[in-house]
Amino acid sequence: MLNYPAAYQSNDESKLSVDQALYRRIGDSVRARSLVESFTIPIRSGRAWTIPKGHVCRIVALEGPQVGDLNIWSLHNPRERMWAARTRQLQQAHVSVFDRLWSNLPYLRPLVTITGDSLAGYGVDEYGGRVHDLLGTRCDPYVNRMLTGEDFHFHCHSNLTRAIAPFGLTEFDVHDVLNVFQCTGLNADDKYFMKTCPAKRGDYFEFFAEIDLLCALSTCPGGDLSVPMWGPDARDPLEVCRPLGVEVYRLNDSVLDGWTSPEVAQYRGLHGMVLAGRG
Ligand code: ZN
Repeated sequence: MLNYPAAYQSNDESKLSVDQALYRRIGDSVRARSLVESFTIPIRSGRAWTIPKGHVCRIVALEGPQVGDLNIWSLHNPRERMWAARTRQLQQAHVSVFDRLWSNLPYLRPLVTITGDSLAGYGVDEYGGRVHDLLGTRCDPYVNRMLTGEDFHFHCHSNLTRAIAPFGLTEFDVHDVLNVFQCTGLNADDKYFMKTCPAKRGDYFEFFAEIDLLCALSTCPGGDLSVPMWGPDARDPLEVCRPLGVEVYRLNDSVLDGWTSPEVAQYRGLHGMVLAGRG
């Protein structure tokens, strides 16, 4: 297939490029970091946690392949949250090291920069599948009911909703996810497909918090997605569900030399509107 140029490019390359030396140093800083929090998310559940800016968070496939649905908010203003669609355009539809996850309007800044990905070598498989998916979104009980006629309360949307309740958020705050460890693509009919998760025990996905964050992660009830959740071959994939681990690390200050937390977007206009009494 011919390769068409990317749409979102900057006149000034520095706008979309990252300081690779800095983020490589952060990713390589395993000996210059201290664990501040670590927990396990059991199968078919969710958990929310905070990450101070300048810290690193690692999601680990503790027991083998398992997909995790990730949401990210600004800790101090949950209206600012990950914007999967724009991140697909500014970065890629599947993300890895040096990609950033951007926030929605009117904020538009990198919430995190990815600093570690043990599946980075997966590349593109023979079906066009790639890992760490921004094409799709979370499974939810509404679509499930529509497709199957049955109620199930432990889809990722529900797991995330329960996880954020202690932080005063509701299902309206749950947004399009990053599907960590999930292998997906578009087939020849332009339809979304999900393949069996290629993660092995100990595989990890790691990101650097650019601002203070609230994160939530669901262990997808589809587990490693080797069993179809919908359609004629569907059955309960309980036996392919595994827990995920989360680790948060503080970095030594010297690792962060040259880093500053990003500001929100610079546009200060009023979308062409003029307030009465002015101008
Ligand atoms: Zn799910």
